[in-house]
Amino acid sequence: MPAEPSILVIEDNRDNRELIAYLLQAYGFAPRLAASGVDGVRMALEEPPDLILLDLRMPGMDGYEVVAALKPHPALARTRIVAVTASAMLDDRKRIDEAGFDGYIRKPIDPETFADTIRGLLAGTDASASR
Ligand code: MN
Repeated sequence: MPAEPSILVIEDNRDNRELIAYLLQAYGFAPRLAASGVDGVRMALEEPPDLILLDLRMPGMDGYEVVAALKPHPALARTRIVAVTASAMLDDRKRIDEAGFDGYIRKPIDPETFADTIRGLLAGTDASASR
């Protein structure tokens, strides 16, 4: 039986972090949680996850800086990194694509569709092995 997919949530806002964690736990995942970009980078490198849900707007190291810091690491080549953001205007989507994110999830999080979105993102993990 394959190991359970590992998910790292990097989000500075406690309410958002707890909501995402709650939803993931409700669907059987055991996410690790980071409250800052710096902690998120450290945790991602310590134990590369299958999926990172990454808040874009954080004080200090923001989501764009986090993805830039993680992308060069071969250990994370198969990790999908997904932006979690309220800013999904066209310009932001372009910037998200160019930054190397594998997708984005809109805030506010929709509990009805969240699990399917996560499953879809994890299903893409294997196919991205040659990325
Ligand atoms: Mn934030």
